[in-house]
Amino acid sequence: MHRSLSSLTQRIERALDERLVPAIYRDVAPVHVEAAHLPGEPIPAREGLALAYQPFTVGQPWGPAWSTTWFRFTGEVPERMRGGRVELLVDLGFEKAGPGFRSEGLAYTADGTPIKGIEPRTAYVPVARPAAGGERVEVYVEAAANPRFTGVVTPLGDRETAGDLPLYRLDRAELAVLDEEVHALVLDVKVLHELALTLAETDPRRHQIQRALEQMLDHLDVADVSGGAAAARARLAGVLAAPAVPSAHQVYAVGHAHIDSAWLWPVRETIRKCSRTFSNVVALADEYPELVFACSSAQQYAWTRQHHPQVYRRVAEKVATGQFVPVGGMWVESDTNMPGGEAMVRQFTQGKRFFAAEFGVEPREVWLPDSFGYSAALPQLARLAGFRWFLSQKMSWNQTNRFPHHTFWWEGIDGSRVFTHFPPADTYSSELSGRELAYGVGNFAEHGRSTRSLLPFGYGDGGGGPTREMLETARRVADLEGSPRVVVRTPAEFFAEAEREYPDAPVWSGEMYLEFHRGTYTSQSAMKRGNRRTEHLLREAELWCATAALRAGHPYPYEELDAIWQETLLLQFHDILPGSSIAWVHREARQTYAGLAERLEALVGPALTALAGPGSVPLAGNAAPHDHAGVPALGLAAPTVVDAPDVSVRTGPDGTVLDNGLLRVTVDADGTVSSIRDLVADREVLRAGAAANVLQLHPDTPNRFDAWDVDEFYRNRRQDLTGVAELVVETDDPRRARVRMTRRDGESTYTQTVSLAAGERVLRFATEVDWQQRETLLKVAFPIDVHAAHSSSEIQFGHLQRPTHTNTSWDAAKFEICAHRWLHVGEPGYGVALVNDGTYGHDVTRDPPGDGLGARGTTVRLSLLRGPRYPDPDTDRGRHRFGYALVCGAEILDAVREGYRMNLPLRRHTGGAPVAPLVEVSNPAVVVESVKLADDRSGDVVVRLYEALGGRAHTRLTASFDLARVDVCDLLERPDAEIAALAPIAVEGGAVDLTLTPFQVVTLRLTPAGR
Ligand SMILES: [Zn+2]
Repeated sequence: MHRSLSSLTQRIERALDERLVPAIYRDVAPVHVEAAHLPGEPIPAREGLALAYQPFTVGQPWGPAWSTTWFRFTGEVPERMRGGRVELLVDLGFEKAGPGFRSEGLAYTADGTPIKGIEPRTAYVPVARPAAGGERVEVYVEAAANPRFTGVVTPLGDRETAGDLPLYRLDRAELAVLDEEVHALVLDVKVLHELALTLAETDPRRHQIQRALEQMLDHLDVADVSGGAAAARARLAGVLAAPAVPSAHQVYAVGHAHIDSAWLWPVRETIRKCSRTFSNVVALADEYPELVFACSSAQQYAWTRQHHPQVYRRVAEKVATGQFVPVGGMWVESDTNMPGGEAMVRQFTQGKRFFAAEFGVEPREVWLPDSFGYSAALPQLARLAGFRWFLSQKMSWNQTNRFPHHTFWWEGIDGSRVFTHFPPADTYSSELSGRELAYGVGNFAEHGRSTRSLLPFGYGDGGGGPTREMLETARRVADLEGSPRVVVRTPAEFFAEAEREYPDAPVWSGEMYLEFHRGTYTSQSAMKRGNRRTEHLLREAELWCATAALRAGHPYPYEELDAIWQETLLLQFHDILPGSSIAWVHREARQTYAGLAERLEALVGPALTALAGPGSVPLAGNAAPHDHAGVPALGLAAPTVVDAPDVSVRTGPDGTVLDNGLLRVTVDADGTVSSIRDLVADREVLRAGAAANVLQLHPDTPNRFDAWDVDEFYRNRRQDLTGVAELVVETDDPRRARVRMTRRDGESTYTQTVSLAAGERVLRFATEVDWQQRETLLKVAFPIDVHAAHSSSEIQFGHLQRPTHTNTSWDAAKFEICAHRWLHVGEPGYGVALVNDGTYGHDVTRDPPGDGLGARGTTVRLSLLRGPRYPDPDTDRGRHRFGYALVCGAEILDAVREGYRMNLPLRRHTGGAPVAPLVEVSNPAVVVESVKLADDRSGDVVVRLYEALGGRAHTRLTASFDLARVDVCDLLERPDAEIAALAPIAVEGGAVDLTLTPFQVVTLRLTPAGR
């Protein structure tokens, strides 16, 4: 028999596009259009409905970037539509190829009740079903002129620069009857056709399906698709009824809409995106009882509650029926590389508290499909927050190595594990197409051991979520020969069954490093600095307010701290802290950080005043976890002067030598540091012939996503900044010698101060940059004379080792890495830590081989600035300040201590008398991360501590108040027997003895006596 499959494919696709799909709607009737334009910020619906509407016609332009147009569509359902399913069809000027990302609308009734979102693939408003004829139609659509971003440098990313040219044209506004039989036929054909294309040409099933489609087309009168639809469907019924084979893979389809909390739109638009998508979902849930919609991010619910209470009430109804499923339990889907330990905890606790209070639910799966890599601290934190499972798919974006598992146990630095799944379709916004279903099955790495995978379906980011077409598709592929079996289920149902089936799943240990988006540790420097600063101010505010509450009866600011935490957590969203949003988002975030700092200072100051009492004794608060200058950790006392000789300064032709008896530092005439002699260890810290504190510029033009990526070829060209415009040796303070220098290059100016203080084996650097470079990566280099096989980077509640060599493709791919307050390199007997007060990106390389014989040095570099032009053309233009320091002769414990110290300097405060810390910890390896009052407002003191070195550590925690009881809790401050069994405590008087395992995090709840 002769065969031409490709011509059949063409025939089916052309028939779909040109005959069947256009026949879905019939009996079109125009509506009357009016519009009211709103150039500024959105307004509530009741105000929008009351605007002065002017006549408007289809085809007319509307919508300068970021403006809103309120449309009013009025008319009457014609008699001829009687009995039909009548819908209002609105095309705001959609790009036909895409599901969203541009103009969108929310439809309202005349009384201001939200109906559903208007997006390219769900562009209808239900009017009557069945129509009686003569119904009056009055529908309002709040249409947002969100510009589209395509990777091209554009001023559209901020309303202040976007201009006022209209971006859109109203393409359609009319009533029509949805022909349900034709609609069903289209879906039958699509499902069968897409399935056939995924099957092998040798598969008889493929040919049976195609034969059925061919015969259906042979018999269909394309001039009367509506009239022939039922008969056409009958011809396909046989192939659609063939059940899946017994070995068919099981797909747990979960309705979803990944809505970035800010990205190519500002936060205010996300609030509207949520209302549109959620309106769609609740409407669809009425029509399709099987719909399950998984929705993460407490923040997005909180916004909807505040700004769209009617939508929120509907959401709550559907949460109660189990169709709208809160998942993830985090405040937002945050970045996980950069948030500090306590902030990561609060992402979980703030999110879970919200879900529990609002809906009485507690999600058990962490839901982070899109964050840019996953910290090895997460498994423990997730388990301690009551999660058991973890979902992502982002590792499929790796550019070099293929992640080996889809279902596995992920193990963190402390040994804790979460049962983890990556949807093998490599997407979080599937359409349930045949191609995606087949790809997921083919890609799944666990066949033979596991028979099921999860697939999130629905358009995200303003596409409106799942559509009725997707749900109809799910019904058709529920049990269909050649297809995986598709069931619509909750993530929890999937995880419970997947774990039961595959308890011995393989284990991935350590971080899940995303081999992509490495620029996000550095882009938008103010986000990094703002985050770091806010996290530490929050620590101080909670510590001092808790101390003042117990000691002085000072009121504890629960609401204000919650509010500040929630704003901080929002800014850790995976496109804000990483710096990958438009200019508007980052401009607002900078303002928010400035405001948060003021609000936190307004909490810290009065708390310290309440503690210190009246008087003029010079005191200092030490919020860091280790004693400093005689001030106890977490206490307030008069600082002592360090008992050490002054710093001597000698300037000669070869530069300036600073000597404090511990370090002898040579700053060359060009401002670079050519030698650091460690007089204690009697060795040189820097590699011979190499200078430190060298500012280095690299061209930074990534292949794909500017703000996101640093591509390895950046290293192929480098310019060292060694020209000095000015160099001043400052000797006015014998306790701290300083060399200050200014460099100019192009339009940018760099001012640095190198300082050595008495009694410290620490060389400190303050760098100010007026940054005007574009597409340039600025690093500062420290070539250290240690032979290090790995570097250690601080992460949340511990640290992580990464190789300095590039033996394997996995090692080589880590050419830019993230570290929090410190990064350490060393060899037995000697190490050096580079600590910082507000940056995250680093790279660590082995020094070039020379003639190949002998020990290698190790060069550590901090990434300071980039200048990507997309999506924000002016990323990081302007002034920046960086503090960092080289801690010589440092063990890991020194790195930990100096990291905290640099971010929590002593806070001077005059008062009457010193204040003892609320708690003291006897072992410096056990670090107090947080002291606060319990969220339940009982007045209990919550102390969170962790083992920081990666070993066992016994410690005694002594409270300076009488204890009624002590409980080991989960992160939500609930006493937990399982967790307590891992951290047995012995309480005696005011002391708690406990032994921590490597990197263990322990939350103690201390109930004061006599309350
Ligand atoms: Zn995202």
